[in-house]
Amino acid sequence: MFCRNCGKELIGSPEICPGCGARPMRGNSFCSNCGAPTTPLTRICYKCGVRVVGGVEAGLQEISWFQRHLNWTALLALVGSYALGLPGGLAIGFGWPAAVAGAVTAGVVGFVILVLTWGWVLMRKNRSLWWLLLALFVPFGFLAIFLLENRSR
Ligand SMILES: [Zn+2]
Ligand SMILES: [Zn+2]
Repeated sequence: MFCRNCGKELIGSPEICPGCGARPMRGNSFCSNCGAPTTPLTRICYKCGVRVVGGVEAGLQEISWFQRHLNWTALLALVGSYALGLPGGLAIGFGWPAAVAGAVTAGVVGFVILVLTWGWVLMRKNRSLWWLLLALFVPFGFLAIFLLENRSR
């Protein structure tokens, strides 16, 4: 096995890792079966397909609400960016030149927040960043992600 904390290959299943001094199954940085890097949220090792245990349960208590509710985080970012972008759209629509610059800036900020949040969510979900294109060009692209999530479970 491999130490889940430091990735060192271990002989047998020692209580304490000789490499880092921690309990090998308490970490969450490496797969215990093949030593591939993992994140605290990894449940299935991407390299060998083995279900990784130990650190996951401990890690779940430490992660934030946003990490536990990825779909809601994505939805919040979408709604937030629309709320920021709406004044820009209205200012252009009503032809208020003085308001346009500030409102458009808010819209750009909202867009950046949306891209960053969705990129982060997609990486957490181990999904391709191509989903970002769907999210941006199809207003309700997030629905596709919801559906995909439900199908894969
Ligand atoms: Zn170690
Ligand atoms: Zn593995």
